[in-house]
Amino acid sequence: MDLKDLYRDVIVDHNRRPRNFGPLATANHSAEGHNPLCGDRLKLYIDVEGDTLADVAFEGSGCAISVASASLMTEALKGRALTDVRDYCDEVHKLLTQHDFVPTRDLGKLVALSGVREFPARVKCASLCWHTLLAALESKPQTVKTE
Ligand code: ZN
Repeated sequence: MDLKDLYRDVIVDHNRRPRNFGPLATANHSAEGHNPLCGDRLKLYIDVEGDTLADVAFEGSGCAISVASASLMTEALKGRALTDVRDYCDEVHKLLTQHDFVPTRDLGKLVALSGVREFPARVKCASLCWHTLLAALESKPQTVKTE
């Protein structure tokens, strides 16, 4: 199996069975993202506890790349310190956009998304959830709804 097959399998798997999919009862921040070029929409929920991204989940619908990217992102970032989360976002953005970029940290399965560099229109699909995450981090804290 070559690397491209492996990458495709990761994306197919995370699109079919997205991890951390659904609303998050403990969320204290959220943000919505929309990629009009492709029609991807997602809502991201995060639970920030002190300096840590304690939990993260998403809902929405879109193409395989956008869903897989969001799923992989939630797995990669859950439980990380916020400074680490921002650093991670920065690395992934470079991974998605720079052809010669060599990650300075272990991005795990997220390297499967690097294939979008060959397809500029798909970069927005893969980066949507990451932009939405940064928007959620900047958003005003919300009280948890209990209805
Ligand atoms: Zn898309």
